Order: sequence, then C-alpha cells, then structure tokens
Amino acid sequence: MKLSKMHLKTLREVPSEAELPSHVLLLRTGMIRKLVSGVYGFMPLGWRTLKKIEDIVRDEMDKTGAQEILMSAIQPSELWQESGRWFAYGPELWRLKDRHGREFCLGPTHEEIFTDIIRNDVSSYRQLPLNLYQIQTKYRDEARPRFGLMRSREFIMKDAYSFDRDQEGLDKSYQEMYEAYEKIFTRCGLTFRPVEADTGAIGGSNSHEFTAISEVGESEIAYCEHCHMAATTERAEVTDAAPQDDIEMLPLEKKLTPGTKTIEDVANFLELDKKQTIKALLFVKYDDEGNKDGYVAAFVRGDRELNEIKLVNALGIPEHAIEFADESEMSQATGCVGGFTGPMGLHDCTIVVDSELPGLKNMCAGACEEDHHYINMNYGRDYEGDIIADIKTLLEGDPCPVCGAPVKHARGIEVGQVFKLGTKYSEAMGAYYKDENQEEKPIVMGCYGIGVSRTMAAIVEQHHDENGIIWPMSVAPYHVIISLVKPGDETQAKVAEDIYEQLCAAGVEVMLDDRDERPGVKFKDADLLGIPVRITVGRGAADGVVEYKLRRDAEKEELPVAEAIAKAI
Ligand code: ATP
Ligand code: MG
Ligand code: MG
Ligand code: MG
Repeated sequence: MKLSKMHLKTLREVPSEAELPSHVLLLRTGMIRKLVSGVYGFMPLGWRTLKKIEDIVRDEMDKTGAQEILMSAIQPSELWQESGRWFAYGPELWRLKDRHGREFCLGPTHEEIFTDIIRNDVSSYRQLPLNLYQIQTKYRDEARPRFGLMRSREFIMKDAYSFDRDQEGLDKSYQEMYEAYEKIFTRCGLTFRPVEADTGAIGGSNSHEFTAISEVGESEIAYCEHCHMAATTERAEVTDAAPQDDIEMLPLEKKLTPGTKTIEDVANFLELDKKQTIKALLFVKYDDEGNKDGYVAAFVRGDRELNEIKLVNALGIPEHAIEFADESEMSQATGCVGGFTGPMGLHDCTIVVDSELPGLKNMCAGACEEDHHYINMNYGRDYEGDIIADIKTLLEGDPCPVCGAPVKHARGIEVGQVFKLGTKYSEAMGAYYKDENQEEKPIVMGCYGIGVSRTMAAIVEQHHDENGIIWPMSVAPYHVIISLVKPGDETQAKVAEDIYEQLCAAGVEVMLDDRDERPGVKFKDADLLGIPVRITVGRGAADGVVEYKLRRDAEKEELPVAEAIAKAI
C-alpha cells in the first residue's frame, strides 16, 4: 500500500480524553475513531490489526475442532426470560423495543442463543460433544466506558460454547479451550497469566481469566512465585454450602397472589410505599404441597424509589457496583432470582420482607441449587450498604493458600475467560439429549470468551515506547514500511518502488511512504505506527544502499538493496 493513497490521519496531539498509552496511541495512529463514548470504529490500519488478531483466534479455535458460526447481535427477550437473566442482568444489558413493543436486547454475550440452537438441533448423545463459536460485535452499556477499546460499550468478542454429555466431557473441552487460549495470547505477543477466577459459591477451578500483565490493567491478581497459585484477588468466600434451613425466618410473611409478576406488582401487593427504603427481599419458594423448597435472596438498592428498583442478583451485587460481578458470578447467581421474577415466577413464592432493615440477619444468597449458596449472610458483617463485604482479598504478602509463601500482586487486563457452566442453561432452557439408554440428560456446557478488540489494546499496552506502538510481527498492520526520503528524486523513487514490488511479490505486507512530506514527519509516523521493519531509501540509493531498522531496536544498518530485501522476507 502506498501511503500517498492510503486513508490515514495521524495526530500529533494527545487527544484530551485519553489517559492510557493504548488509548492515546490507537487514536493518534488513526487506527480507531471514536463515535460516541465507548463506541469506536476501525480505520484501515486498525482494521487490519484487528483482523489479524481475529485470524489467530480463528486458527486456534478451528484447530480444536470448534466450528465458527455467526448469530445476530439482536436477541429476543423471551430467551433471556427463560434463562432468568432478563430481569437480573441489570442496566449493562442494552434493551430495545421494536415498533410493536416487543422487547429485545443487543447481546452482551450469547449463552441463551447458543443453548436455543442446541436444544433444537441436538437430541442424541451421538451429536455430542460440540463446540460452536463466533467472532462478533457485543454490546454492554458499561457504567463507565473508558480507556478506548479496553472498556467500550460496543466491542468485538470471540465467544465459544461447548456442549458435552457429562462433566468429564466438559473437563476435556475446558482444557482444550484453556490450551487454545494460551496459544492465542502467546501468538499475539502478550505476556499473560491464566488465573483462577472467582466463581462465587461454586468454588474450585471452574473458571480462569487470562490476564495480560499491565500496570494500567483494571484487574488485580495474586500469584505465588513458589507454586502455581494464581487467582484474581477478589474471591468470595464460601462460608458454608450446606443446609439452607439455617436461615432465620424474618417476620412479615405474606403469600403472593397468583399472577404477581413484576417488582411493581410486588410493591403493590406488599403495600409498600414507593419511596420506602428497602435493603433486601428474601423469597422463599414453596413446592406444590406447600413445603418450603428453597430460598432466594434478592438485594435491591435502598436509595431509590421502588418503582425504579430492579432485582439485581442473588449475590447482592447492586446495579451501581456491577463491576464487582463478573459473568460467572452474575450468571450463577442470577438464575434463581430471574426464575422467581420472570413471567413464570413469583406466583409460587412467599415473600419475606424485614421491615427493620438493614438489620437483616442470616440471609441466603446464591443460585437456587444445592451447594450453590452463601448462607447466614449478615448485614454489616458480610455485606454493607449495597455491597457485599464477604469478598476475601488476598493481600500482597499474605500466605499463599496453596504453599504458604508470601503472595505477590500484579495488575492486568482481562483479555479472556473460560468458564464451566455445567447444566445451568441447559436445565433452565430445556436442552436435553438422549444417552445410550434413551435416558434424557441435560447437556453439560462451557463458555469461553476473548475480548478481541480489548486484546488489541492490551497488545499496545505491552508493546510501545515514547514514540509510538511497536507491533509484534504477528499482528502488525503491515510488516515493513519503506520510508522514501525524497519522492522527487528519481533514483530513490525507483529503488523504493523496486523494493516495494519485490517484497509484495514475496508476500510481505508493505507500506511505501511515498508522501510528499519531510523525512522527519515520515520517520515520526513510521515510529508512531509501529511497523516492525523500516527500510529507509535515501541518499545511499544512488550507491544501491538502504538503511534497515527494526522498530524495537535503536540500531540501524546500511545494507545493499538485495540484502535488505532478503532480510525483510
Ligand atoms: P470485565 O471484568 O473487564 O468487565 P467481563 O468479565 O465482564 O469483563 P466477560 O463477560 O468475561 O467480561 O466477557 C469476555 C471477554 O470480553 C472479557 O474477558 C473481555 O476481554 C471482553 N470484554 C468484556 N467487557 C468488555 C468491554 N466493555 N469492552 C471490551 N472488551 C470487553
Ligand atoms: Mg471480569
Ligand atoms: Mg464486565
Ligand atoms: Mg470475565
């Protein structure tokens, strides 16, 4: 590509809203273009790099046997109601209505959609295992979109979903994805660590986050230099996963009338003043015989009018602190609340409200499933205000929970996450298969995300200097830039053109800076853009000599043209 023809606009100035190097540099190189807060477009060079990252992801996913598909970003609310997430997901979910008033969302993730496909298409054990993935635009109305591609409201994600017959199959699929992720991030040139992610009350190694090490990252990780322990620092402690009956019943028990559906219905039913402050609601579920059949705690923000309150999720992560929750906590915790608040919910519940909140004691929080609860959650002790305080932080220097050596801390960027979902979605949405004995079994699922556009930002964070980006070859928009010092000089122009053509013929991706600009501008741009190899064609061209320089090194070499070409190939 010749720069004289390329649509490229680099900026000298640092855009005022940008703080992080990746944000500054991706804007200054003109690789990305902001439309509105948290929404970016990709210009020619940025798009090339993004596609290279996508291709690495695609290549490693395909090697595992996963199959690429492409689903719509628009998702009907019905599927989310089935999974219980329509009410529980919170304000990050970008909701919209069509002209008939039918509700939709712009997908922040696609568990529901993929589960829906599988429940329709898969009926026999012979069709499993299966792994489907897509590389697609996702939408999350983040509370604080910032740092450019790092936390945006529209971003590109690779999301994969595995479907297995049993836990053993899932373990294998998970391991395959884990290994594919290691290869992907290595090929992207990232220094990263897979760390155990908090999966809330489920515990164990059911989820890992892949964290690109970076001081400016929003994630904090704890790791041990003496053993393999590496985890996100915030880990909810499972106080006790056993009997739910320990919960102390609070006064004011009312049985809901059938047909009660929304939080407003609940408020009316309870005759609550809409301005009343409520810290929490505890739902108790009864079975058909009237036996107590489980609890669901749903915390709500207390400082809002009730009609604005949304049931958030059973772990008590309130709307404004949604960042404390990751997908795993959210999905695991929300299933039950959604289940009780969705259209099919509430009518079989008894609602318990403590009128003397926040003195709430012995709450239960978690999914409506055995072994998936925090019990005896006490206000003040375990959570405070709206935020759960029952999050254990592994501080720097604390003894490693595995080997006892002092724990170290690092900051990083979550570029990917793998998660064992189990049968949460398949059971909620009825994705079953028949095994060898014609027995119906729920499909066992896993989900695996990579922030493709965030990975691009993470690469820049790890590969830049004061002059600009230093792209690793694997994701560089072009491999070589030829800086033609004097385009008006016939010899120089001819040598540059020659090199350009030979390299192109050899399959090297080349930019020829043939613009009518001062050499200083060209060198500055070459450094800013971070093209790995620069060949400068200047005065030496008359003697068949050019300058060869790697972006990452300070040294330059004078080389005969042929040698420079050979070296660049
Ligand atoms: P975070 O903790 O940073 O909010 P997340 O845990 O909510 O991320 P996941 O649901 O695990 O994100 O989504 C899979 C991947 O998508 C993440 O690992 C991350 O790389 C990427 N991602 C998530 N949210 C954003 C965003 N707002 N902008 C860009 N990439 C994102
Ligand atoms: Mg996260
Ligand atoms: Mg998030
Ligand atoms: Mg995550």
